[in-house]
Amino acid sequence: MAKKIAVSDTTLSDNKCDICYESKCCRYVTQNIDKPTSMRDFDLLLWQISHKNVHIFKDSEGWYLLFLSECLHLLDDGRCGIYEKRPLICRDHSNDYCEFDVSIEEGSDLYFGSYEALDKYCRKRYKGWDKRFKKKSWQQNA
Ligand code: SF4
Ligand code: SF4
Repeated sequence: MAKKIAVSDTTLSDNKCDICYESKCCRYVTQNIDKPTSMRDFDLLLWQISHKNVHIFKDSEGWYLLFLSECLHLLDDGRCGIYEKRPLICRDHSNDYCEFDVSIEEGSDLYFGSYEALDKYCRKRYKGWDKRFKKKSWQQNA
């Protein structure tokens, strides 16, 4: 399941979309993933985050892939080019709690913006991380 991020409260007006010149909520895609629980799960995440503009985060709702890619319908002036036909997820997205207030990174429990960041986390989490490929049984029993 995908989602748009709702991360913090705001004291700004209802018109804050008008002053959100970057239209931050139109510049990414999320995809929920299973909670990684094994070395192999994290090894797979390392492959995914090795791709350009792919990040990973975890918040109170779970783990997500984050694709930093702007919507093709976003117009140069920040408006939606298909406003009347925009998808439900866009219609449901509230600006009460949104990326304008706190970035996805700041609103996450865990955020990995690079291969190196995730690899560092894996080394801390698993003692034998760097030797995982040498284990004969690793593929079956990780
Ligand atoms: S919902 Fe939030 S992030 Fe999206 S355009 Fe409005 S203020 Fe910006
Ligand atoms: S369809 Fe419109 S509202 Fe939805 S992400 Fe694209 S530009 Fe933004």
